[in-house]
Amino acid sequence: MSHPGVNLLEFDLDALAAFCETLGEKRFRATQLFRWIHQRGVADFGQMSDLAKSLRDKLAGSAHVAAPAVTTQHISKDGTIKWLFDVGGGNAIETVFIPEDDRGTLCISSQAGCAVGCRFCSTGHQGFSRNLTTGEIVAQLWFAEHFLRRHLGSTERVITNVVMMGMGEPLQNYDRVVPALRTMLSDHGYGLSRRRVTVSTSGVVPMIDRLARDCPVALAVSLHAPDDELRDHLVPLNRKHPIDELLATCTRYLPHAPRDFITFEYVMLDGVNDTPQHAQALIALMRRHGAQGLRAKFNLIPFNPFPQSGLTCSPMPRVLAFGKLLNDAGLVTTVRKTRGDDIDAACGQLAGDVKDRTRVHERMARQRSYTRRRADAPAVGAAPEGKTG
Ligand code: SF4
Repeated sequence: MSHPGVNLLEFDLDALAAFCETLGEKRFRATQLFRWIHQRGVADFGQMSDLAKSLRDKLAGSAHVAAPAVTTQHISKDGTIKWLFDVGGGNAIETVFIPEDDRGTLCISSQAGCAVGCRFCSTGHQGFSRNLTTGEIVAQLWFAEHFLRRHLGSTERVITNVVMMGMGEPLQNYDRVVPALRTMLSDHGYGLSRRRVTVSTSGVVPMIDRLARDCPVALAVSLHAPDDELRDHLVPLNRKHPIDELLATCTRYLPHAPRDFITFEYVMLDGVNDTPQHAQALIALMRRHGAQGLRAKFNLIPFNPFPQSGLTCSPMPRVLAFGKLLNDAGLVTTVRKTRGDDIDAACGQLAGDVKDRTRVHERMARQRSYTRRRADAPAVGAAPEGKTG
């Protein structure tokens, strides 16, 4: 279905005010309109009863409010919901809602595919097609929030937390992600606190510094390795921004952050990054940066295998032993609970449909052979299975 004019989901409040100005309308009209769209989920200008008829007519001729079409919706037995949105050109992106007792978290995508190409990530194996627009990012929240309210018969907010951890590297789509974050944070939009909106990055160092100035929200960093040699191959962006540079940037971010720590994600890969030696190297690394003021929490993520990866998840006793070593060294560490794995909605499993414009398969083949060599090499001093704690 074609729509007239611009999609108002593209605009944060300032941009909407500028648009309204072009229609000869004052800023407070933009605020009213913003509230109708984001707080009440109304897309039909005719229903916006406190807007003048003349404005509603102008809007009907020059704008619309619409999310990309939902092509599938899957509901997991644990209540997790995954939607696939068709964003055109053969690309589809995924969004996941994770309900918990005290919160509802939405995991949002920022790109169709991802150019970073992390070795253990299903999206990374699909390559990269394009950045999402601000409207396509916000639409995931707009659609999910109002769908869930209708579905649950709730007038209250259902989504209390947003994590930019879906498909894509959000900081490689910075200019479109920041207005989307502003809409999430706006009191006239979703009113989420900065602590409850998390940007997860593989380490786009210059953009972490910019985020600190422009829109500081909670930061999660995909670390996954304690040294540059291994991280170069698991997270190829590391070759451009090595670990010391990344952690120094995180330390600079902290005074701006809404929380007094940075979360570090560490996916547990069998025989690759999960030995006691890796844990000790990680502890030494964090001590060195802790002395510079870095405060960190660790989140260990049991790897969700997918066929092309050639990787397997560390056995749970080894995950727990790894976590115990970090905790005993004073690094607060949790193990992420896997959610929605029966509908491929778990962390690292998101893989809508991507028309790759990069040569992802060649890159992945090179990384695969490296990781195999590392995994096959005897891990010096590694404890036998089940005796790592
Ligand atoms: S883990 Fe994140 S940054 Fe890495 S390939 Fe996947 S989506 Fe991209």
